[in-house]
Amino acid sequence: MSAVSVQQLIDFSYIAAVIGFILALKWLNSPVSAMRGVVIGEIASAVAVVATLFDPQVVHYKWVIIALIIGAAVGVPLGMVKMTAVPQRTALSHAFGAMSAALIGIAEYYVGTPHISKFEMAEIGLEVVIGSLTFTGSIIAAGKLQEILPQRPITYRGQNIVSLSVLGAALALIAVLVFHPEYTHLFAAMVVVALIFGIMLVTPIGGADMPTVISLLNSYAGFSAALLGFVLNSKVLVVAGSLDGASGFILSVIMCKAMNRSFTNVLFGAFGQVQVSAGKEAEERTVRSASPEEAAGILGAASKVIIVPGYGMAVAQAQHKVRELYDALSKRGVDVKFAIHPVAGRMPGHMNVLLAEADIPYDKLVEMDDINGEFPQTDVALVIGANDVTNPAAREDQSSPIYGMPILDVDRARTVMVIKRGMGAGFAGIENPLYYLDKTLMLFGDAKNFVGSIVRELAGSHG
Ligand code: NAP
Repeated sequence: MSAVSVQQLIDFSYIAAVIGFILALKWLNSPVSAMRGVVIGEIASAVAVVATLFDPQVVHYKWVIIALIIGAAVGVPLGMVKMTAVPQRTALSHAFGAMSAALIGIAEYYVGTPHISKFEMAEIGLEVVIGSLTFTGSIIAAGKLQEILPQRPITYRGQNIVSLSVLGAALALIAVLVFHPEYTHLFAAMVVVALIFGIMLVTPIGGADMPTVISLLNSYAGFSAALLGFVLNSKVLVVAGSLDGASGFILSVIMCKAMNRSFTNVLFGAFGQVQVSAGKEAEERTVRSASPEEAAGILGAASKVIIVPGYGMAVAQAQHKVRELYDALSKRGVDVKFAIHPVAGRMPGHMNVLLAEADIPYDKLVEMDDINGEFPQTDVALVIGANDVTNPAAREDQSSPIYGMPILDVDRARTVMVIKRGMGAGFAGIENPLYYLDKTLMLFGDAKNFVGSIVRELAGSHG
């Protein structure tokens, strides 16, 4: 039996890495196995990178080591951002991934030209265009989420036609280059046009649609990497890029469904404009507020409570206090569940991660479609820092920008209590009629402090 060659070992490692990627995606599907999914994904990536370093085509390591040092210097601090900043961090990592795919494609073009086959040129062209537009699009998305750039959609008349023409120009340049790869100036023009298109693609999209856009950009970055795999003849890159591209696409579809939006509506709808008129109307209405003692009294006397966490719980880092509240109420025999909206917070799975961190049992976390039927039999719906995902206007007001977005039907519970600091709007920037209902009690304060006070009151009244 002949000894195993280096190439065979590399191929074997790639197969192992691909299996790891598939398992990672599978395990990331449930909070119970998500951590395992992250670890296997990291191991698989490391295996793929190390195997590639043994490739005979890698002749010296100087540049690899320099790139590793720079990458780690940027990546380690990026990995330590606050949970609430993860969406923009994710947008930045897509930007870097797409930029590296585009740069490698550009290098391949300049190394190969003019002896590039038509097929190769088409691959490189598509890969560089997708990588470049994803790079600038992701930077704009990160800027909007970090609020460095305005979150509202920036639009002008005839925008869609102009944007589509720019995309058409990029594709036309690829077509010319396929037949004339020696026109290096056209290649440079193609890169610039694609970079501009990325900016034009994301600028008109409002902040409320950014999560879907990020997941779509993730998908583009994946497909760009897959195309790069064809250019470099790297099977592992083709598979990993395709998995990334397909999973990002599926996530975008799920998020569009959760918001009852179509892709075209997200990309061309300019959703998320701040409403001015609704606020005016609201000034004349009044709300009822309550103290922690009153809230504790009502909660302690309830037999069924559904807690609805949202972005405010994440900002306040109130999840551990929420756990204490869950314990205190459960001890009194109250049936407590958590209602999870698919886009609550600022990233998919945001609430699941926070509640899991506080060790709240997974079986108490119930998805929107499964829990909505339970609100009418619920004594108290306790909304903690959630706003848009509970807004009944999405169900009832056809003129509302979020009309049609599925919401948690908290207004159907017997009593609604809402913990938030004031009358501030949520991410979509719109008024919430829930707060003005007779059955609603506003509990004004920071989520962590207010929940803490309720827990103390419950403990006091118990003892
Ligand atoms: P939301 O609509 O953004 O509302 C959060 C509320 O929390 C605000 O109205 C704010 O009111 C309150 N708040 C902020 N800090 C607080 C604190 N320290 N203590 C107590 N309350 C606090 O949140 P949501 O209901 O979770 O909805 C999510 C929104 O974000 C949706 O529009 C969704 O489309 C969008 N989005 C989702 C994702 C995702 O993937 N999950 C990503 C990006 C955007 P006060 O200022 O009055 O306190």
